[in-house]
Amino acid sequence: MTFKQILDSHNFDKEKLVRMLKCNNSEYQQLLEKAHKIQCKYIGPNVYGRALIELSNICKKDCFYCGIRSSNYQLKRYLLNPEDAKSAIDLAIESDISSIAIQSGEQTSKSFIDYISELLIYAKSQDPNIGITLSCGEQTKEVYQKWFEYGAERYLLRIESSDEQLYYQIHPNNATHDFKKRLQSLQYIKEVGYQTGTGIMIGLPNQSVEQLANDILFMRDLDIDMCGMGPFIPCSGTPFENSISPFNDVFNMSLRMIAVVRIVMKDINIVASTAIETMKKNGRKKAILAGANIIMPNVSPDSFRSYYALYNNKPNVKISSPKHIIDSCLKDIPVGFTFFVGEKGNSKHFKSKNN
Ligand code: SAH
Ligand code: SF4
Repeated sequence: MTFKQILDSHNFDKEKLVRMLKCNNSEYQQLLEKAHKIQCKYIGPNVYGRALIELSNICKKDCFYCGIRSSNYQLKRYLLNPEDAKSAIDLAIESDISSIAIQSGEQTSKSFIDYISELLIYAKSQDPNIGITLSCGEQTKEVYQKWFEYGAERYLLRIESSDEQLYYQIHPNNATHDFKKRLQSLQYIKEVGYQTGTGIMIGLPNQSVEQLANDILFMRDLDIDMCGMGPFIPCSGTPFENSISPFNDVFNMSLRMIAVVRIVMKDINIVASTAIETMKKNGRKKAILAGANIIMPNVSPDSFRSYYALYNNKPNVKISSPKHIIDSCLKDIPVGFTFFVGEKGNSKHFKSKNN
């Protein structure tokens, strides 16, 4: 099969995906063109924003790669107070970006669960049309259900790696980091009726291109609506601080992953992650050109941002006004694309499944 025939396939198996991810430089241009064509055909050259609120860096988990893992005792911990969280929501609503995403370290206390509910009720009371994504880790089905009823309609829970063996190389092997439980949580999220998002990190220690291909098949078979993935960036103070990437160019492999995911899952939403921008200037723009269609400007209060330190050199762009939010997005929009405000940008895939 020629590379072009592979790109034009209707069914993708592991072998084809590996071939696409390992393509040479001239094939890479074809890969990008194909992803761009599919993006234009299925969802249009359109980009939507989700204003990101980093609610808390308190986390019960101890993922080896993450800077806010529970055994990072150096880190000052915070939970935004209701006033700060609500003013971040207000700022997002005033900008007309139309969607917010609340992300947090994993907490399962009743007070945390009730706090999220309170914020959902608040956001919906201020703007009944706002689209809300949650990314607050593994919860019981009842909790996912409750948050859904209060108005969250999208949930992002990365599988991190769909390879069980690799999963346990990047997480402690114990009940708090149970691979089966993560899979189960994704099922609950789907069953409750969320637009379901998952994703992985690219460039984890010992990760192979074959595993990345399997990750894509995993996401396809789960029939996800949204994908959030990005490069793994070592974080000081974690067990992986000196990790050496298995790929000679993690940035480029991350773009390849976006392009291949777009080609395989044509009408889902794909995030141009902050991590990819952190790796290289204009990373987000390149991610959009490779097939991504979502950007997530950070609207968390300035005073806490540096404590939500998942990885080294995470950008700390201060946002002080609604206009500033939109401007910070516009600078990442490539020529030929439109950035939408006033429209939620729900997953087209989710819509067509449910019609
Ligand atoms: N606690 C929740 C959500 C917050 S963490 C959860 O884990 O699901 C959000 C994401 O940050 C994680 O899913 C992980 O993929 C990513 N992340 C953590 N550490 C990272 C690192 N060092 N480099 C790149 N991404 C990282
Ligand atoms: Fe906690 Fe999420 Fe970081 Fe894991 S990745 S330590 S769950 S914040």
